[in-house]
Amino acid sequence: MTRWIRHKSRYLSWQVSEGVMAIFTIRQGGVSLSPYDTLNISFNVGDLPSAVMENRRRVLADIGHELSQLVMAEQVHHNRVAWATSHEAGAGSIASTTALPGLDGLLTHSDNLVLGMGFADCVPIFIAAPQHHAVGLLHAGWRGTVRGVQRQAIGLLKDDGIDLSQIYIGIGPSIGPCCYEVDERVATEFRAQMGEDAPLVATRAGHYLLDLWEANRQQLMQLGIPDANIDISGWCTACHGDQFFSYRRDHGRTGRMGGFICMSK
Ligand SMILES: [Zn+2]
Repeated sequence: MTRWIRHKSRYLSWQVSEGVMAIFTIRQGGVSLSPYDTLNISFNVGDLPSAVMENRRRVLADIGHELSQLVMAEQVHHNRVAWATSHEAGAGSIASTTALPGLDGLLTHSDNLVLGMGFADCVPIFIAAPQHHAVGLLHAGWRGTVRGVQRQAIGLLKDDGIDLSQIYIGIGPSIGPCCYEVDERVATEFRAQMGEDAPLVATRAGHYLLDLWEANRQQLMQLGIPDANIDISGWCTACHGDQFFSYRRDHGRTGRMGGFICMSK
């Protein structure tokens, strides 16, 4: 069963619980011009800042929030995760330079705080523990996945006294096992971390299709998250150019979708 729903408007949503709003934007309904058309949420890709600001404003308005309630992580393809509080509200919201530095994961207990990050192939991992009034968002490309950003996040939630059986995970749109070819160097890191279970399928000499959804699902299950609590959206960003930006498909010149999560009012 998946709790991922495709809307006609600017986003998909992960419908995990009444108390949680978790969305992933598509590239439609914004104001950016090609190659960022039209709903790019990143200041770091060469798009006009005024367009990015308007795009973000529209998405946040869709979910009943303002830019001043947004907090964004720097996203450095590593594994650091931290709790955010209302003190951090607005960090990274109108300029990337103020995003919370060195982090690829954010968690919060705070109402009225919207956690956000940009994606264009890397895996967005949404976290909800509604009974404990906690939500989170992780950025897991191949590096974050193999370096254990999901492990860091689950560790912090456990330290906070949250029961693993009450943690729900939504794995959002990203480059899928259909399109994500990696080389021997990447494959070696996954084998070192996951052994025989590394979800790699050989294609041509020294190349493999890597399934980042499955790699994250397996590692989360090993940490103790029940399989039934993990929803994989199954949407591949590289396959659907009308809906998603894809760094790989677009050779780096492209926008970013936004992952956003907050406690709903
Ligand atoms: Zn694909």
